[in-house]
Amino acid sequence: MISMKKTQLLDKANSRFSKKQLARLETAIDFAAQAHATQKRIGGEPYIIHPVAVAGYLCDWNLDLDTLIAGLLHDVVEDTDVELPEIEKQFGHDVAFLVDGVTKLGELRKGMREIDSYLPATKDNLTKLLIATGQDIRVIIIKLADRLNNLQTLYALPRDKQQKIALESLRVFAPLADRLNMGRVRVQIEEISFSYLDKHRFNFLKKQMKKRLGRASKKLDRVRADVAKLLNQNHIKFTMDGRIKSVYSLHKKLEKYEQNLDAIHDLIALRIIVPNKNACYQALGLINGLYTPMTDRIKDYIAMPKPNGYQSLHTTVVTPDEQIVEFQIRTERMHDYAERGLAASFHYNEQKLTDAYKKGQIAAMPANLDWIADLQKAAARLAAGQKVDTEKLRLNLFSDRIFVYTPRGDIFDLPDGALPLDFAYRVHSDVGARAQSFKVNGRIAKSDTPLKTGDVVEIITRNNIRPTIDWLKRIVTSHARQKIKQQLRRELKK
Ligand code: MN
Repeated sequence: MISMKKTQLLDKANSRFSKKQLARLETAIDFAAQAHATQKRIGGEPYIIHPVAVAGYLCDWNLDLDTLIAGLLHDVVEDTDVELPEIEKQFGHDVAFLVDGVTKLGELRKGMREIDSYLPATKDNLTKLLIATGQDIRVIIIKLADRLNNLQTLYALPRDKQQKIALESLRVFAPLADRLNMGRVRVQIEEISFSYLDKHRFNFLKKQMKKRLGRASKKLDRVRADVAKLLNQNHIKFTMDGRIKSVYSLHKKLEKYEQNLDAIHDLIALRIIVPNKNACYQALGLINGLYTPMTDRIKDYIAMPKPNGYQSLHTTVVTPDEQIVEFQIRTERMHDYAERGLAASFHYNEQKLTDAYKKGQIAAMPANLDWIADLQKAAARLAAGQKVDTEKLRLNLFSDRIFVYTPRGDIFDLPDGALPLDFAYRVHSDVGARAQSFKVNGRIAKSDTPLKTGDVVEIITRNNIRPTIDWLKRIVTSHARQKIKQQLRRELKK
């Protein structure tokens, strides 16, 4: 089984990489297989099946060789005796950097386990962690591949774990894939998660949809033929296929439309791919002329891309035999971008872009998600073949930051070496000003104890406490210093 999977991956990679690169990939497969040799997945399969599958997705998504290799090695440091320096020695700095990112994410998550039940904060925290450790966006993409494969083998886990992983995937990983415009991955994650979270509803909707589509299929064949004829007559090159709405997005839409299936017009959409932008508009005009368009449902996402960079023309029309059909018209490149998002851009700008990814990573603070907006803008520009100012995208990294929790599970990031009072001021300057003492991981801690990642810090406040000049010795962050000085001045005036 292992050698079969190995051959499958090498076959997949064969057309994309040189002989020398393929040899490197093979070395990495063997290295990972060796490291995981004694381990099994919960389902009983040899462990190596999992990282090979992860690398397989990364290959399908057209990621570069370093990312594929990091995918193969992503669990090695966390789960085996192999250490990072050895990976660096064997496979280079970039691979080691990516593996390290994935490993750190795993370590940070361990500190979150106890707050798993507190979902709103968990969701927020996990998103922050993903962003913080994903200094290189490829780390996040590896995590998405990892999660997708874990979902596909979810049947092997006990029910409560299934529910937990499915819920987290739906709330955190699917939106993340969406922000990166990785539409296909998003849909895969949503479908599997939803089928575990609400099996009954999933099956019910699937059946309903099948019925509808069965009834419409004859009429749709007719529409396809008519549209194909029209486009041919006008010498527009095209390919056409049908996309069936995913069960989960139908479920969400039905909630908006009071469960009325008749109100959903895009159960099936016909997707037309044409060579260029002009042909998109031309095809739109022809289709709107052939049928009766529902005017409020003509959308020009080419002129006005969606925030995640998605581009396409949409129109919903009514045919003479009263079939309602949605059309989505776009170029090959727009299509590829809609399906694979950021990952697809690698393919178009191979080298340049890898660089941009490495530098154009991360955002200001985890508290806001500006980086995603920047990333999206950059991604949209890259997809349109424009240049991106990577300088503007470069932001402070998190390598020298620690992550500390409140007892409620909220997460805050601080510079390495920060003290409890820094944390208090980071939470709120009023909390800082009234801080009397601190508990770290449940124990009273001195005010000069440096905090570590994963610490849970409780601040004990008293209303009659006032900051004194001494406090400036109990902090290291400029934020706390500035706040304390302000407060001291205010006290003085009084
Ligand atoms: Mn894994």
